[in-house]
Amino acid sequence: MRRILIAGNWKMNLDPAEGTSLVEDLLDAAGGWPDVDVVVCPPFVTLPAVAEAVAGSPIELGAQNMHHEDAGAYTAEVSAGMLLTVGCKWVILGHSERRQLFGETDTGVNRKVKKALHAGLLPIVCVGETLDEREASRTVEVVKKQLRDGLAGVTVEEMNEVTIAYEPVWAIGTGKVATIEQAGEVHEFIRSWLNETFGHHIAERVRILYGGSVKPDNAAALLAHPDIDGALVGGASLKADLFDGIIRAAE
Ligand code: PEP
Repeated sequence: MRRILIAGNWKMNLDPAEGTSLVEDLLDAAGGWPDVDVVVCPPFVTLPAVAEAVAGSPIELGAQNMHHEDAGAYTAEVSAGMLLTVGCKWVILGHSERRQLFGETDTGVNRKVKKALHAGLLPIVCVGETLDEREASRTVEVVKKQLRDGLAGVTVEEMNEVTIAYEPVWAIGTGKVATIEQAGEVHEFIRSWLNETFGHHIAERVRILYGGSVKPDNAAALLAHPDIDGALVGGASLKADLFDGIIRAAE
């Protein structure tokens, strides 16, 4: 059985004081949570304050990106080792905003995935098609390439530590959530690709999250699909009552 994972991607929102206040509100509610994994991914500067606030609690910490090198002349970048020193366990890689706004490629994502795994961080690798690609019936082709190139050279053993997030780009921040059928179809494809590429054990073990306008009122139906193992949440992770509602929907 795969354990449900609910991860919040705060994007470029919440300074250290605001982030601390949000996780304090979440922790007030945490007593009533079902048995799921909960991760928050604040901006880099907010990580240390949130790390302190969640220490010893059921909330785990992740970053939204990292560089693939250990150190050097890479202005404004942050390494895997640095993320570990501030208490990160997780890192989101290849988010569609990184791909679309900052030119990240599958090759770049692949370098980061390998570095994260070597460093001991758990990567949440994002894949997903744009609206044009969906309308041209290219969803499976696009997601397959992102998986193949983004996970190239990752070993079967390393795949135990990988989480995949299917995030249709047209559903991110738009209020347009994929139907259960649309999401389920891609999740089933990803599971079958994992089976073909890494074998049955990995296909059964790797969690595939759905992301794209997840809210408390649509989360339960999405999470009820056997191949949807959790959610990557943007907008609704910034409000304690909404994120708490999504976590409770995993019951
Ligand atoms: C995201 O950015 O990963 C995301 C899913 O955003 P939202 O929930 O706001 O659509």
